[in-house]
Amino acid sequence: MSLKGKVALVTGSTSGIGLGVARALAGQGADILMNGFGDAAQIEALRAGLAREFGVRVAFSGGDISKPDQVAAMVAQGHAELGGVDIVVNNAGIQFVADVVDFPDEQWDRVIAINLSGAFHVSKAALPAMKAKGWGRIINIASAHGLVASGQKAAYVAAKHGLLGLTKVIAIEMANAGVTCNAICPGWVLTPLVEKQLAARAKQDNCSVDEAKRRFLAEKQPMAQFSTPEEIGATAVFLCSEGARTITGAPISVDGGWVAQ
Ligand code: NAD
Repeated sequence: MSLKGKVALVTGSTSGIGLGVARALAGQGADILMNGFGDAAQIEALRAGLAREFGVRVAFSGGDISKPDQVAAMVAQGHAELGGVDIVVNNAGIQFVADVVDFPDEQWDRVIAINLSGAFHVSKAALPAMKAKGWGRIINIASAHGLVASGQKAAYVAAKHGLLGLTKVIAIEMANAGVTCNAICPGWVLTPLVEKQLAARAKQDNCSVDEAKRRFLAEKQPMAQFSTPEEIGATAVFLCSEGARTITGAPISVDGGWVAQ
């Protein structure tokens, strides 16, 4: 159990990739501070289930990562309840799809506030203690859309490109402090975020959801398969390992060849 004694804060871990990453880190013995939105009873069941399955301590914060005061309270909760925050996975994110000319201003602000500024607020709050300890890991869940663009995703693509910039700056600032900062850039992963887009596509093309899945993959990925939250989790575990000690400021693609083209 390579991460026993470490505490990981995974934002947006009530669903999808974040939950997969939290499970993978817990599987290596890390205590977990879960975060995200959802039904209170379902979240409590996830929290208790994670603790029971992996024999680790698991706390939960419903803090909104776009609100700096709530982020500060969440990081303080990690210190008070779990004894620190050694690993941050900036995962929480949302999507909104529209042409630039039709893109609602408030949706642009919302996507940037959560997908980009949220990662800044959480990193800013967690870094001082990591630096003082001489060990830390920041892992930003960016996207293939941090490296290349698609139409109708202006705010998302801008936020994810920005997140890669933030990743590099933190990596440089922390280079000799024992703290690394990297980004994982997934392609398609079947989660509620993508299921919403698949349903919209099936409706638009008047086809089945299975056919929409095939089209999504065929348009973007040489590998005609979705990645899984478990696979993103396995990459996060590797980035936390001592073997990854000198990997910093790097975008790591887990995308079935999306950006190789
Ligand atoms: P998801 O919708 O399943 O999960 C998103 C999580 O973020 C949920 O737990 C939600 O409650 C939480 N969240 C949303 N707004 C929040 C806020 N303001 N504060 C705190 N938590 C908040 O989505 P997912 O597909 O698992 O996406 C997770 C991350 O992975 C996102 O950053 C997304 O951009 C990225 N990503 C996803 C894919 C994919 O194909 N699914 C591909 C590349 C990148």
